[in-house]
Amino acid sequence: MNDNGKPKLAMYWCASCGGCEISVLNIHEHILDVDAVFDIVFFPCIADFKLQDVQGYPDGYIDVCLFNGAIRNSENEEMAHLLRKKSKILVAYGSCSYEGCIPALSNLTSKEATFQTVYIDNPTIDNPDGILPQTMTKVPEGELELPFFYNTVKSLDQVVEVDYYLPGCPPEPPQIWAVLEVVIAALTQGAPLPPKGSIVGAKDVAVCEECPREKHEKTIARFYRPYEINPDPDLCLLEQGIICMGIATRGGCGALCPQVGMGCRGCYGPLPGVEDQGAKMLSAIASVIDVGDVGDDEKLLEQKIEEVIATIPDPAGTFYRFSMAHSILQRTRISENGKGDSE
Ligand code: SF4
Ligand code: SF4
Ligand code: SF4
Repeated sequence: MNDNGKPKLAMYWCASCGGCEISVLNIHEHILDVDAVFDIVFFPCIADFKLQDVQGYPDGYIDVCLFNGAIRNSENEEMAHLLRKKSKILVAYGSCSYEGCIPALSNLTSKEATFQTVYIDNPTIDNPDGILPQTMTKVPEGELELPFFYNTVKSLDQVVEVDYYLPGCPPEPPQIWAVLEVVIAALTQGAPLPPKGSIVGAKDVAVCEECPREKHEKTIARFYRPYEINPDPDLCLLEQGIICMGIATRGGCGALCPQVGMGCRGCYGPLPGVEDQGAKMLSAIASVIDVGDVGDDEKLLEQKIEEVIATIPDPAGTFYRFSMAHSILQRTRISENGKGDSE
């Protein structure tokens, strides 16, 4: 360990796509400021660090750890505990770490079904013997170990205590830099940090508040996928029947997606005070569906409503794309083996 006296920075990935790591480089020339202020002590995506390096650090040695990715397997969980122990400030960086994101959509199914799709039914896999990953394999040289794959994907705060949350898939560069500036001021000038548990790099208002599109009273008789419609460039997308989660999503990104004609997917997570982002969106949608008339036969009305709902492809994946692990549901029950929501 060669201590140069600078604050220590780490970044690590678990169940993730790599986009969060790249987003740090998107702060462009500010990366030079990061390099000037911090001593990077663990960042496997950009430099050759080993697990033994981290294991050898004293507890609390790392000043700030940006942890991205969800907890998908036993190795992810071990790394979360290790980095918690070695870090003064642990940041859940990006949606996977904050609330499960895309990896946690597999909580809608089981480990067995996931393996079946990935290793057996996958058209790009040639696996005639149906071999699946094993946690232990004997080879002439000894035993090879793989992590244990969990049924349930968890967010970082479902396995260790988290100090701050930086939402986004991935977080947007201006937000990343704003947060790093606060951290740098705290570490170098003793400036105060936000209260523990804060969501940083985001706003306390909905994406709709940042969205420049014209808003009117919403009434929707069917939904469209983006390729099915050429939306008016100035009007609210939801009013035009394009699913836009801006109404249920925390702002801070500057309404990037609606500004280019795509509905907000919800990547900044729920609004303050909202426990379940998907339920909030469902309730908003339910209040704007406009079919039938007062006095219509109830069965007919129900059928019309179902027809409108049927125009939303994959409702669970749409409304819980980012927040499944943090949702009230968290996962579907696995009934065939009676193990419920076991790991
Ligand atoms: S939050 Fe998005 S960009 Fe970051 S690792 Fe997860 S999927 Fe990738
Ligand atoms: S387009 Fe989306 S973000 Fe913009 S006002 Fe409509 S619902 Fe809100
Ligand atoms: S508009 Fe929605 S999906 Fe797009 S970056 Fe912002 S929060 Fe994420």
